[in-house]
Amino acid sequence: MSASQPSVLLVEDEPAQREVLAYNLEAEGFGVAKAENGDDALLLVDEAQPDVIILDWMLPGVSGIEICRRLKSNTETRKIPVIMLTARSEEADRVRGLETGADDYVIKPYSVIELMARVRTQLRRVRPASIGERLEFDDISLDAETHRVTRAGEAIKLGPTEFRLLSTFMEKPGRVWSREQLLDRVWGRDIYVDTRTVDVHIGRLRKALCQHGGDDPVRTVRGAGYALG
Ligand code: CA
Repeated sequence: MSASQPSVLLVEDEPAQREVLAYNLEAEGFGVAKAENGDDALLLVDEAQPDVIILDWMLPGVSGIEICRRLKSNTETRKIPVIMLTARSEEADRVRGLETGADDYVIKPYSVIELMARVRTQLRRVRPASIGERLEFDDISLDAETHRVTRAGEAIKLGPTEFRLLSTFMEKPGRVWSREQLLDRVWGRDIYVDTRTVDVHIGRLRKALCQHGGDDPVRTVRGAGYALG
């Protein structure tokens, strides 16, 4: 998975269904992690939090419902949207009745196009910049599709790393990001980068954002990291 690319964890024990879905998700530009059972799914979530989880209800061992319940009762993972796949509508009713906390339900056999649309709906909520939305913060505007950034109407030139940093910040204004979290999100966890590199690029981002004047919108939170606003 490359940095900034939206990531989907696909939990499905049927190999054919898993491969078809993975293929379609990758074609949509998503990074895909695959698990064929609940235990693997929980391990993968622990390793690298996905942006969205597609979770089959019927799994060998721990059921999808139980996985969902565990994810939703853990403060670390409860905000990750879960789309449950259920085999029949009666099962879907049962899933709803069980109040697992799933964010959406798709009944099998599903249309891949519809499922992709549901994934995008969840991503729009959690990672708007990753699907080409326009983000605004104060007088800063970022268009994720055209990669144009303006401040008070003036064009701001940013390098690719600074652009990814800014879109990460603008997806969640006010949120404090640690250097390690920024490394994961902006650089990707497969690449070894020193945390001081983050400081260097934050410096460049600040300079760029203030090139036409205005206050520095990036806040340094001592001992914690950085935030926008
Ligand atoms: Ca299954």
